[in-house]
Amino acid sequence: MAIAHDDPTAEVTDLLQHLIRNACVNDGGETSGHEARSVEVLRAVLEPSGLDLEVYEPLPGRQSLVARIEGTDPTAPTLTLLGHTDVVPVNGDAWSRDPFGGELVDGVVWGRGAVDMLNLTASMAVATRRLAARGWKPKGTLVFAAVADEEAAGVWGAKHLAERELDAVRSDYVLTESGGMPMKSPGGIKLPVMVGEKGCYWCRITVTGTAGHGSQPYKTDNALVKAAEVVRRIATFRPEAQIGEVWKRYLSSMGLPDEKTAPLLDASRIDARLDELPVGTARLFHACTHTTLSPNIAHGGSKINTIPDTVELEVDIRTLPGQSAADIERMVHEAVGDLRDSVLVEPAIFDPASESPMESPLWDTLARVAGRFYEGSQNVPMLIAGATDARFFRRLGATAYGFGLFSRAFRYEDYGKMFHGDDERVDVESLRLSTEMWEAVAIDLLGGA
Ligand SMILES: [Zn+2]
Repeated sequence: MAIAHDDPTAEVTDLLQHLIRNACVNDGGETSGHEARSVEVLRAVLEPSGLDLEVYEPLPGRQSLVARIEGTDPTAPTLTLLGHTDVVPVNGDAWSRDPFGGELVDGVVWGRGAVDMLNLTASMAVATRRLAARGWKPKGTLVFAAVADEEAAGVWGAKHLAERELDAVRSDYVLTESGGMPMKSPGGIKLPVMVGEKGCYWCRITVTGTAGHGSQPYKTDNALVKAAEVVRRIATFRPEAQIGEVWKRYLSSMGLPDEKTAPLLDASRIDARLDELPVGTARLFHACTHTTLSPNIAHGGSKINTIPDTVELEVDIRTLPGQSAADIERMVHEAVGDLRDSVLVEPAIFDPASESPMESPLWDTLARVAGRFYEGSQNVPMLIAGATDARFFRRLGATAYGFGLFSRAFRYEDYGKMFHGDDERVDVESLRLSTEMWEAVAIDLLGGA
């Protein structure tokens, strides 16, 4: 398969369609993903322009590709454009079009991965290819990495590269998903830059009771009844809001009147204000300023005539920057209250939140470049609630942001719905903007001609 185009818009569109059709669905199993299929496509795109390519394969089929344009000045910084090639599963019945058809209809490409994040991976690849093909000689090094397994904690992709193949991916600056959807505000167009992400504390809570006969339940110690109360307490627990620097800067950049922003910047008033907002906005704002606890799995009971003595719950907790595992344990115990002696809390995964500084040469580059595409726009920092591969690079000391660029036709609300949802799609204009933006960012940050 070879894609050769003079027109970057046609090239990126074609590449995105191929990546969608490869259906690199990651269900969390080690044998899913099959990212080798998309590595082959990307290799066919990149190789003819003479790029150095390396492929890493920690498990059969779980391939990640790394391409480099080596800089001429060893003291200049390295920038990595970091895309993933895997996608989450679909419920095909709920889609209006084939989720893996990659159809182009009226200037819109449909399919799983169209916004998460095959659109960006395709545009990063095309930008890198075009820079190489024109013989660009940067001072700093440009790396393009298309990694496997982002959708299942990055174990066979970014985490593997960061831990085992550091020379291949060592970077001062990293750009990955997501951001850059133009948001209208009284102060003009704002483009979000994801400077940090929340952490994950996934835990199992075992609730214990005493077994007995279901025919005589009077004053028994039923673990399921207690678990129901534990779930209720966790669901209604209200951790105190944390008004962090990113949140302050985001809100103050939106140009809203003071009376609207003041309660959102006050930890004692924000919860009441969230109650008055549309639920979609409130949910996002709440996640940006609070630890969240969501009890999502319960296993308990074995036989209809037996009072159960154990029930297991699993709770998805998302942590804020600066919070430790001990902080979260304390919070869970506080939520459970006087049922504490009947529960055992065991963390299954703790991946702390990560943040990059809001002042950096990369921030300045994104501000200069975005202004060329959206005149008078301003970049605003945001924290994302979910996890991305950026965290592995932040831990290695890189400044990592989530960015991209979308057209005016693309609405932030739609993004929220399509992300891991149904009818995922992206317009061709957004693909063009992202491709041109990555090229401009690489040149601005790494120099050279
Ligand atoms: Zn993604």
